[in-house]
Amino acid sequence: MSFADETSMAKMGAKKQKQKTTKNGGMFDPMSVTWLEKHDEFVSGIWRKIPYNVGQVIATVATFLVGISINGDWVNLFVHIRKQFGYNSPALSNRTSYLSGYTLEDLKLQNFLTFWIPSCIISYSIYFGVGGFLHWYYYVRQRDKPEEWKCQPKKWLSPELERHEIILGSITLLFNFTVTAILACYLSNGGWSMVYYKLDEYGWLWLILQFPVVYVILDYEIYWIHRIFHFPFLYKHFHKLHHKYKQPTAFSVTAIHPVESVTIQVLVVLILFVIPLHWFPFYAVAIYNYYHGIIDHSGINFKAYWWQPWQPDAIFHDNHHQYFHVNFGFNLSIWDKIYGTHRVKDRVYRENTFYGRGKLISELNEAELQEEIELRDHENPLAYRSNTNENELSAVELKKLKLKK
Ligand SMILES: [Zn+2]
Ligand SMILES: [Zn+2]
Repeated sequence: MSFADETSMAKMGAKKQKQKTTKNGGMFDPMSVTWLEKHDEFVSGIWRKIPYNVGQVIATVATFLVGISINGDWVNLFVHIRKQFGYNSPALSNRTSYLSGYTLEDLKLQNFLTFWIPSCIISYSIYFGVGGFLHWYYYVRQRDKPEEWKCQPKKWLSPELERHEIILGSITLLFNFTVTAILACYLSNGGWSMVYYKLDEYGWLWLILQFPVVYVILDYEIYWIHRIFHFPFLYKHFHKLHHKYKQPTAFSVTAIHPVESVTIQVLVVLILFVIPLHWFPFYAVAIYNYYHGIIDHSGINFKAYWWQPWQPDAIFHDNHHQYFHVNFGFNLSIWDKIYGTHRVKDRVYRENTFYGRGKLISELNEAELQEEIELRDHENPLAYRSNTNENELSAVELKKLKLKK
């Protein structure tokens, strides 16, 4: 990995970049990421021959693929699609006695390895293969002009942290797809859940309503899980790991402490055991969320499309990484607005200002104010919907603040 935490890196040419990459020799380097960096010119040559629109589609599909692999959920999709078309697993057990101790059959987990092994192979292949492509697509190909696309153009994740997030991300991935394989195996073997397959079983209205209902419930749940992981004890022991990346990249999505990641995963699928849901709306929303998880961590100034007025722009979560205890939501910003944890211009947020309320800017001393001005200056105005940095302090505001002292 080859990004330094300094402005001049942005101007660094491909040659220098390569030298830097080889300097990492001896340390673990993620395969495809390094490969694509080293062969940037070759890959760029091929890429330029692809029409622009086709290139966009490839990048979007790649983002979706990595998204599904965050939890290995394509294995669940496979199970549900099979069931939808009537291929129920023959391994359905008729045993009713649970007195003789639990066997894998009792737990509906027979043939677990037939789920786990492919899940493992596909998840890692996509994570490194397609994830490497995304890294190249965003960070290598466009590294010379970060002010055009990067949320924090003056700041780059250090090579050490890039390596850290990929190592941590791949460890957590192992836990994630193991949990997913357990669920997929259990459901495939006829394990009980509230998931149904006959489209009109609970009426067409409920089928359609499930999309917004699942969306809102999951987002509310994830807001609270995230916010609770920001409480001092849980933050210091678990969530802090994810906040090592002040300039997140697509690889930061899975770079979470396994304990936190598995907690989120288990709590999210709980809904499948509580209300009757058709598998399709649930996984459609889940995949949408994974996709945006990558977009939100990409560090790129992605903005929501006109057809998703509820969706915060990428800068919303980028702000969360830059300023820590603020903007806890993901796919709706309304929870932060309701609970007062939404970023406000006259407040400052740091790793030691817990609970999402920050500190009043007027309470800062001269040095702290200077630091805050610099931090805000690192935000790209183009990442905001108005194309102006909505948090930049105007000359008048600064004068007022300084007069107060
Ligand atoms: Zn956080
Ligand atoms: Zn994050």
